[in-house]
Amino acid sequence: MFNIKNNMMITNRQLFLSHLAQTTHFPLLVEIERAEGMYLYGQNGQKLMDLISGIGVSNIGHCHPKVIAAIKDQADRYLHVMVYGEMIQSPQVQLVERLLRTLPKKLDNCYLVNSGSEGVEGALKLAKRFTGRAELISCHNSYHGSTHGALSVCGNETLKQGYRPLLADVKHISFGKIEDLSEITTNTAAIILETVQGEAGVIEGSKKYFATLRRRCDETGALLILDEVQTGFGRTGKFWGFEHYDIVPDIIVCAKAMGGGMPIGGFIAPRHIMDVLKKKPILGHISTFGGHPLSAAAALANLKVLTGSGLIDQVESKAELFKKYLLHPAIREVRNVGLLMAVEFESFEIVKEVIDRALELGVLTDWFLFHNNCMRLAPPLIITDPEIQIACDIILSAVEDVLYSEEIKKSEMML
Ligand code: PMP
Repeated sequence: MFNIKNNMMITNRQLFLSHLAQTTHFPLLVEIERAEGMYLYGQNGQKLMDLISGIGVSNIGHCHPKVIAAIKDQADRYLHVMVYGEMIQSPQVQLVERLLRTLPKKLDNCYLVNSGSEGVEGALKLAKRFTGRAELISCHNSYHGSTHGALSVCGNETLKQGYRPLLADVKHISFGKIEDLSEITTNTAAIILETVQGEAGVIEGSKKYFATLRRRCDETGALLILDEVQTGFGRTGKFWGFEHYDIVPDIIVCAKAMGGGMPIGGFIAPRHIMDVLKKKPILGHISTFGGHPLSAAAALANLKVLTGSGLIDQVESKAELFKKYLLHPAIREVRNVGLLMAVEFESFEIVKEVIDRALELGVLTDWFLFHNNCMRLAPPLIITDPEIQIACDIILSAVEDVLYSEEIKKSEMML
């Protein structure tokens, strides 16, 4: 697409590179024209199979017709009317009522926000207000978002080092290590964990770990916050990731796949905890756009599709199919919890080249923030069995192409 500026034809690509804030030196630079189901469509007939769901967002595929219809219908009624928490807006209340049906009864209150980071901010503030304590605990290699509070509880020094001072009272422990749970004490307001560590490269804790964690929180009065931003909404083969571990958290944070492609998130807690936001001071958490009616309408349609389609029940068998096809001497391991998958190679260089080559061959994958030598796969849950075979064939071709060119490079060096 061209834009005319000073009588010169400037491409969208040039405008993107000149005027949109860049956060890496190697953006994907695919110019998107439309998206539908499993596929992104670029210029000149380019078609990409999306194996990462816009990073865990498009669980029911891109532009699901029910979601689009709900957005259009809501757009004809009203957009923003008033800041969060004042007016009764049907899309918000219908969404929350239906969402809470997926949860144990004690989790009966939801504060709607716009993103995962905002949900984390709200959850941390809520825990501090409810307990009257300041200390927060999180895990090494965790990712909880990019705003100051969320960044403070991230467990990766590289991401944080340029932004100190962050929140002062934060301790990090090792995810899955039962001995470390003794760090949770009566000084602790909350411990926040991803139910499955995502950016660390799909790392799981044991049932025993989660049971001990729950018990330790109960003994000390610390609140247990589970960050389900990436693991919620069916990604792991259950609606919520924590359902795999037989525990109930005190607070849940969700976002990403919640909106069916629209921005929305939430933090969910029992009413007696959430009620502290009403007093000393009132308006304990404020959001102008939290639960925007278009996003809430989309999220309600998304939820109905997700819970009414049997898609979540198929997650495990689809994941098994990926594991069956992704066999290659260069692939060290395929780790997964449902369709949250990490394909491990020898080095970052190989992963990067395989991702780039797969993109050229029409398949979009990605890497992980904190696990250098793993490729991220998290396809929309609607992916079909034949599509899984096609996707895996393409990944394996990409691996072969990369290894072949590595061989050539090596033999050239020997000459
Ligand atoms: N928590 C987790 C586990 C995440 O994966 C992410 C986003 N990758 C966030 C929080 C932050 O969400 P957002 O980017 O919507 O702020």
